[in-house]
Amino acid sequence: MITQSDFEYAKAHPEAREEFVRRIDIGDREDLIADVSYRPHIGRLKKALAGGNNGPLMSTSKTHCGQSRIFVYDNAFDNYEYIQHADDFLSCLLDHERYHARQFERDENRPLQAMRMLHWELVKRVARPRNWNCDEMAALTSTINRCNVAVKASIEIPAYEHQLRRGTYVDRISEKFRSRMEESLLKYTKFEQILKCNAGLDLRDAINDPASFYTTVHKNIIAIDREIILSL
Ligand SMILES: [Zn+2]
Repeated sequence: MITQSDFEYAKAHPEAREEFVRRIDIGDREDLIADVSYRPHIGRLKKALAGGNNGPLMSTSKTHCGQSRIFVYDNAFDNYEYIQHADDFLSCLLDHERYHARQFERDENRPLQAMRMLHWELVKRVARPRNWNCDEMAALTSTINRCNVAVKASIEIPAYEHQLRRGTYVDRISEKFRSRMEESLLKYTKFEQILKCNAGLDLRDAINDPASFYTTVHKNIIAIDREIILSL
C-alpha cells in the first residue's frame, strides 16, 4: 500500500505519478475494474471545459466489455484545496470511484442510456419545424441541463454517502477534504429536494423513465430554475 511519503513524492514529481497510480492495490476483481490510469491531458481538458477553476479529481467510466476504467487527473495531485493527504487520495479512489464501478456493474449502462434518451427528447422538440422564441429556447436548454444534473446526482449522492459515512477511509481523511466532499454532497441533495418539491420527481425517475422525466421537468422548469437561483 502507498504511504504519505510516496504521495508527497508523486505530488512533487509529475513524471512519477503514472507509476504511483499503477502501484495502488485496488483490491477488486479484475472483471470489475479493467485498470486505473493517470491521464493529465484529459484532466486539463475537463478543467478548461469546466471554466478553468475546478476540474474533476478522478472519474470512472464503463468500457464496452462491461468493466470499469478509472482515470486519475492531475488535479488529484495539484489541487491542495481538495486532496492534502494520501488517505484523502485513497478515499477518492477506493471509496468513491470504486463505488461507481459497482454502481455501473449493477445498473449496467442505464445512466448513460438515460443521458442519451434525454438528449434525444431535446432533439425531437427542437427539430420540429417552427420558430422558437428566446424564452422557449432558454426553457429547453435549461430543461436538458437540469435533467443531466439529475442523472449525475442519482449516481453521485449514493457514492458520496458511501465515501463519507461507510467508506474504509472515513476516519482517516483530513477535515478539509471531508468538508469539501460534504459540500459536493449537499449541492446534489439540495437539487434533489428542489426537484421533489417543485415537480414531484424522484432522481431515480431520470434513469427509469427519461422521456416522462424530461416532460415533467420541462413543465415545471420556471419554478425549478427559480428555486435553484434562490438556493445559490
Ligand atoms: Zn463521483
